[in-house]
Amino acid sequence: MPPPPLPDAPDPDATEVCPGCGAVLAPVGDDVDTHPGASPSCARLFEVTLRGLREEAATDLPSAATTRLADAVYDAQHPDPGRPEQVSAALDRLAADLGARPGGRRTQPPPGWTTTIADVAADLDVIDLGVLVDSWARAVLGDWTGAAADPATRYGSHR
Ligand SMILES: [Zn+2]
Repeated sequence: MPPPPLPDAPDPDATEVCPGCGAVLAPVGDDVDTHPGASPSCARLFEVTLRGLREEAATDLPSAATTRLADAVYDAQHPDPGRPEQVSAALDRLAADLGARPGGRRTQPPPGWTTTIADVAADLDVIDLGVLVDSWARAVLGDWTGAAADPATRYGSHR
């Protein structure tokens, strides 16, 4: 079920929390393409972050593969309440792309996420998008299966 519309005009200082991934972002208004289960600001951030890659995808196979993977990650992190099978399909694609063994999955989305599109966007100026998407995909699959992310695949450990 989509969240109820806000009763008041948006406050420019307000933030909105994505119902899918929990990313806290500045509202962008309603005039954007949205993804079911995602806030408009989150859907916009995903679109903007992937835009360059999508343009290359028509002529570049690695870019096309990364774009497909990113779409699957986004679907897995933003379940469409009307299409539960979409999450299963997305997780199957992630497991296949990442060479992960099929394992037990949660029946409900995990209570929290290791990585969101906001994290990907934040690191984009220093880390290649393909690396970020791969790491994001592993984190989301790990969150769904309860498996700890492989430390060797994590980028930019700040600890
Ligand atoms: Zn989101």
